[in-house]
Amino acid sequence: MKPNQDEYAYIDSLLKRAPDNFQHWVLSEVDYKNRKYPIHAFEIGPDDPTVPVIGLFGGVHGLEKIGSHVVLSYLNYLFEQLSWNKSLNYLFENVRLVSIPMVNPVGVYHNFRSNGNGVDLMRNAPMESDEKVAFMIGGHRLSNKIPWYRGRENKLELESETLINFVKERMYQASFSQAIDFHSGFGIKDRLWYPYASSTKQFPDLSTVNKVSALFNKTIPHHVYIIEPQCVQYTTHGDLWDYMYEEQRKSRDSNANIFLPWTLEMGSWIWFKKNPIQILSPHGLFNPMKDHRFSRTMRRHFLMIDFFIKATESYKGWL
Ligand SMILES: [Zn+2]
Repeated sequence: MKPNQDEYAYIDSLLKRAPDNFQHWVLSEVDYKNRKYPIHAFEIGPDDPTVPVIGLFGGVHGLEKIGSHVVLSYLNYLFEQLSWNKSLNYLFENVRLVSIPMVNPVGVYHNFRSNGNGVDLMRNAPMESDEKVAFMIGGHRLSNKIPWYRGRENKLELESETLINFVKERMYQASFSQAIDFHSGFGIKDRLWYPYASSTKQFPDLSTVNKVSALFNKTIPHHVYIIEPQCVQYTTHGDLWDYMYEEQRKSRDSNANIFLPWTLEMGSWIWFKKNPIQILSPHGLFNPMKDHRFSRTMRRHFLMIDFFIKATESYKGWL
């Protein structure tokens, strides 16, 4: 994957090299200005809903294309290795990976944060914050011409519905599951957020989050991530992961089959600081545009994703 590569062409090239233990679906097609934009989903691993599962998602905010690019590049990295790496093939007998690399393909293609209807998908879930949310940024129902628009009340956008149904079907029943949703924002650091986005109340699975963090810190002491609840930065209405977490929690038996949704917010400041001219590009604020900086972003997060896959597969050893 290169910064300006066509995402659908890249998906086609991936599909031609897909490994054996692999599934692919077109979950929905989004109509926008007389063109259809399919939402692709992938799965690697055994077709058993109870096996532990890791989910990789990107492109919820289309403008933050780098999220889709990390996920697509990581899938390529797996596909290449699964053709020769025996231990990786063995790993994927005991863990499943599911992925929607472009949740909001119209946004990715046209450099919008929102979808084609002007709805910010990460404000679209039926999830009201119990806090005083940040003005506008926290989500509003004033107009789809203003960013952070939540959409009509009680109306899920097709992209949100597609994501929710997929996660429900492919992740909710797993014995243990973690999702990582890849975003970028105008920050200095890379932040790994856990719920809630909608509330400052304590996350019910905080003890599991703390175990994952301790394991990560011990295993990769030089990692770059700040791990924190999303509400430390700001609270919002309509967060899709808060909603999916709560729905899954209602469906599980006591503390069994925990579902942990993470959001990675890649800090774009470093890309921007070193190449200020990129502010003139439509996606310059949220994406690395130089090839070497793009490559460095890929390498940095691959190590983290590798860790999350192995930790998910071996969760019984540390949970
Ligand atoms: Zn985002």
